[in-house]
Formats: sequence, structure tokens, C-alpha cells
Amino acid sequence: VEAVPLPEQLLIARVRRAVPQSAAVRAGIGDDCAVLEVPRGQQLLVTTDFTLENVHFRRDWHAPEVVGRRCLMRGLSDIAAMGGRPLAAFLSLALPADLAQPWVDRFYRGLLELAREFRVAFAGGDTSQSPCGIQADIVVTGAVPRGQAILRSSARPGDRIYVTGELGGSAEAVHQLLKSPRKPAQKLRPADYPRHFHPTPRLAQGEWLRRRGLASAMIDMSDGLSTDLDHICQESGVGAVIEAAAIPLARVGRPAYSVSLERALHGGEDYELLFTSAKKLPSRMAGIDVTQIGQITRGKAMTLALDNGRRQKLIPHGWEHFRKDREPR
Ligand SMILES: [Mg+2]
Repeated sequence: VEAVPLPEQLLIARVRRAVPQSAAVRAGIGDDCAVLEVPRGQQLLVTTDFTLENVHFRRDWHAPEVVGRRCLMRGLSDIAAMGGRPLAAFLSLALPADLAQPWVDRFYRGLLELAREFRVAFAGGDTSQSPCGIQADIVVTGAVPRGQAILRSSARPGDRIYVTGELGGSAEAVHQLLKSPRKPAQKLRPADYPRHFHPTPRLAQGEWLRRRGLASAMIDMSDGLSTDLDHICQESGVGAVIEAAAIPLARVGRPAYSVSLERALHGGEDYELLFTSAKKLPSRMAGIDVTQIGQITRGKAMTLALDNGRRQKLIPHGWEHFRKDREPR
């Protein structure tokens, strides 16, 4: 078994061969800095996200390709949430000395597959030896026409609240893995939990909304509906009412079942878009279902309206990865 880190030069050469090229990158891997071309009339978007072993993934639960894909996914989802288009990504990777080389190769395979899918160039990064576990830090840059980035801070009372796709599917996979920690991940068929094991960023949907000027505020759901909606409410200085019956519960597993309302409300890492709009929107957008789940209100409170007519306070239930004591019930 070949040990890593590979000599940096060799790793760089490999990545360089494998990455998609882009007109946006005038100089990239192989120079001191990347030189990026921002399209005329556009602004640069920059986002950074950690992927840490035993925080965001576990080696016994997640295949290396899945870890690589999800690593880049986190950054692309942030670009989608602004209504932007990705330009180039940067990856800094710290690897334990005893990590087998095939793990690294498979990690890159998953990451580069997603990069090719969305034509994201890789323009640089760093590698180092890690004293404790695998650590990846992804930086993704993107572009959006000047003044058109969709912020969290511009939701207005009366706006409708929408989500793309279904909610709770990713957290349900983690819940199932936590329930039987010794069960090899392969027993949990990745195909039965696609949003967890093979997520796709909602870039087309974010851009669709931005082009038409339809979204007043937007965020991608990494922490869970209750927490991410709270971010919009806090930033916009508004409140919200969510209709419990309207929330699209993810269907996962085999045979397929719907996740609980709790999971859909508080489970993280679905990476769907949560946005507000003054308009009534169609039920599908760029090939993905869109559901109205509530309305923005005056005042600062978040309320959950239940099927039986009762109302309760909606409290943001922070999502902390893999921590059983904080895991949503
Ligand atoms: Mg985000």
C-alpha cells in the first residue's frame, strides 16, 4: 500500500491532468496564485467550507467518492444560493501519513466527477500531512451579474416561502447509520438515500430564479429548515409561518418511506434551496419540484401551523453532525 501524502508535485500533476479547463482561469495550478477572469459586469462570489473526518463524514460510512463529491457540493450549493455560476474551485487537503493512496484517488474521482458535471475548473490548492484525520477545505468562486446576487437579508412581510426538492432525506441516512454504527455503510444502499450519498447542487434552479428576478431572499439548506429559515428571518428582520402539512417530506429507504416531520424541519445537509418570493411560482423549476411551505410575516417570531389548526413556536434546532445527543429525534 502506497503511503500518502504523495509528493505534492505528483499530486498536482495528477489533478492538473484531470480537471476541466476554463476560460475564467488565466493561470491556475502551477503558479503562485490563480489569476481569475471575472466576466464583464459581474461580481465575484467566494465561499469556503471544511470537510472534516468524523464531523462531516466517517470513513466507515462514506465511500471516498462520496466524501469528494460532498466536499465540492458544499461550495457549489453556496454559489447556487446566491443565484451565481461557479468559476473555479481550490482545495486544501491534509491527510494522515498512513492513509492508503487508493482512498485519495477515489476522493478525487468523486470530486472531479461533480466538477465536470458543472464545468468547474480547479485552479489550485495545498496538501499537507495531518496529525489527526482527513481534513479538506474547499474554496469555490463564482460570478453573478453586478447587484443581482440573491441575499438572505431581503425577505419582506407577505412574501411566500418556497423550498426545492424534498427535506430530511440526508439526516434520515445519518439517523439510520447512527442507529447501527457497526453496520457497514454498504448495507445502507446509497441509491436509497440519494440526497445524502449523491447530492447535486441546485445551480440551475438558483440561476433560473435570479434571471427572472423572482427570489427576494435565498439560502441553501445546510443546517436544516428551522435553522436556515431563522438565518433569513434574522438577516431580513422578519418572522415566518410554516404550514407543517405543506413541507415536502423526503421519501427514502427500501421499501421507501416518508421521513418524519421532525427530520424534515431540523435535519441538515439537504442542500435544497430555501427562498422567498412576492410571486406565486410554478410547481416545477428547471426540472425540480418547488413547494410553497409558508409566508413571511411582520414581527420576529417563527411559527409552525399544524394540520389540526394549532400553532406552535418554531425553534431553530441547530444541526450538529453525528452528535447523538444533539441529533434530531
Ligand atoms: Mg450556504
